[in-house]
Amino acid sequence: MALNMTLVSTHLDELRSALSADRVLTDATSLQHYGRDWTRHFEIRPSAIVFPVKADEVVRLVKWARKNKVGLVPSGGRTGLSGGACALNGEVVVSFERMNRILEFNELDRTVRVQPGVVTEALQNFAKANDAYYPVDFAARGSSHIGGNIATNAGGVKVLRYGLTRDWIAGLTVVTGTGELLDLNKGLIKNATGFDLRHLFIGSEGALGFVVEALVRLTSPPKPLTVMVLGLSDLESVMKVFNRFRTHLPLTAFEFFSDIALRTVVDHTHLAKPLGTDCPNYLLVEVENTDASTEAAILESFEHCLEAGWVLDGAIAQSEAQARDFWRLREDISEASAPFTPYKNDVSVTVAKVPEFLEKTDAILKKGYPDFKVVWFGHIGDGNMHINILKPESMDRADFLKRCKGVNADLFRIIAELGGSISAEHGVGLVKKEDLSSTRSVAEIQIMRELKSVFDPDGIMNPGKMLT
Ligand SMILES: Cc1cc2nc3c(=O)[nH]c(=O)nc-3n(C[C@H](O)[C@H](O)[C@H](O)COP(=O)(O)OP(=O)(O)OC[C@H]3O[C@@H](n4cnc5c(N)ncnc54)[C@H](O)[C@@H]3O)c2cc1C
Repeated sequence: MALNMTLVSTHLDELRSALSADRVLTDATSLQHYGRDWTRHFEIRPSAIVFPVKADEVVRLVKWARKNKVGLVPSGGRTGLSGGACALNGEVVVSFERMNRILEFNELDRTVRVQPGVVTEALQNFAKANDAYYPVDFAARGSSHIGGNIATNAGGVKVLRYGLTRDWIAGLTVVTGTGELLDLNKGLIKNATGFDLRHLFIGSEGALGFVVEALVRLTSPPKPLTVMVLGLSDLESVMKVFNRFRTHLPLTAFEFFSDIALRTVVDHTHLAKPLGTDCPNYLLVEVENTDASTEAAILESFEHCLEAGWVLDGAIAQSEAQARDFWRLREDISEASAPFTPYKNDVSVTVAKVPEFLEKTDAILKKGYPDFKVVWFGHIGDGNMHINILKPESMDRADFLKRCKGVNADLFRIIAELGGSISAEHGVGLVKKEDLSSTRSVAEIQIMRELKSVFDPDGIMNPGKMLT
């Protein structure tokens, strides 16, 4: 069904009476501000931005959109890296910025009921204040929303130990693309009554409906954490070090970054380099200090890796401030690369296939694209690599994007051969929709389309993304 790409004044009048006039914005600055996410490759063109404050209003919005054939784009903290929250064709952007309350903490269930616009870091801080821990964590924590995290099934730096957003969602309230309000799973740990629709909505990128409330599980805070940076000579050693550390220590994070990534951050932030020796590759390793013997085990593992020649140098953070600085060397990579118009890839393979993936990818990049500066980093302990190609200053933007598509073709062939995924955690959105078939079979895509048409028969939910 063709959707309306412009709103007429009666549409806007109806919207204003469904919400309130001050919660419907159409000025150019707001359209540009709220109509995009972190991606910068798209021309933004929404018709209006609306700010519901309760679930009933979202139901009314959906009914209005169905009647008037208008596309709706759910919008959280707009830190997404796939163009999922971008509005390009006159859609109405539904921002959850004003549904940002933490509603209830149940100490016995250890769950917290939140509105979708709660900022990830606010939820982490709330958990901490209640002697608990919300473990999904990543650099965009200060801006991203829990609703956006659910819609993208956000991963981050602690997946190795704690899993993905999916693992922490005990219940979800959603409004489907038909305007149905569904209360899914209600916080139950056990519920053997058929399909778990909650999990269908987690990672659905706003294609099926809106998340309007979530019941989030918390856990116990970790014991004190030891953070270290290790310098490695070659990519081959990365998973050897991982195996040694994982089998001997309670790891909470195992992150990789290349020398180019480190230099990009150091130039941007003026943080000190972590080691005396310049190395081609680095690891940030975080270990939970469960008892007195952990300290000795860390040193033993470090010495083992040194003697084996896998590690060239290393440093253990001596204070909380130094641990924070070590983390910034890894977490500030996206921000430090942003001025260089990076072309981003976020791919995954099983942990066992990481060495083969690294070797093959390194070879194609060196052979086919020697003039490109490539920033490698990622959550290597769970098989997820980010490969950001920086635009050479002298290269025209259109030429650059064309060359990057060539890199993608080679990269995705390797991913397909290894049975990996072209999007580990950032989602499909606009950026990866043309390449979905590299990871999902024709039959799978067809079933996903059929599911979408059940929840969103008029195609009003986040049109033009993922499957359309
Ligand atoms: C510096 C940086 C580091 C990052 N690191 C990581 C990382 O380590 N791991 C990771 O997984 N991601 C990472 N990201 C990506 C991003 O932060 C996550 O995808 C995050 O979950 C997006 O949340 P958001 O609220 O900003 O969502 P948005 O960008 O606003 O939206 C993301 C998607 O969710 C949909 N959506 C938003 N709210 C709702 C809702 N209430 N109902 C239905 N659909 C909705 C949108 O339509 C869109 O498709 C990073 C981003 C940046 C900028």
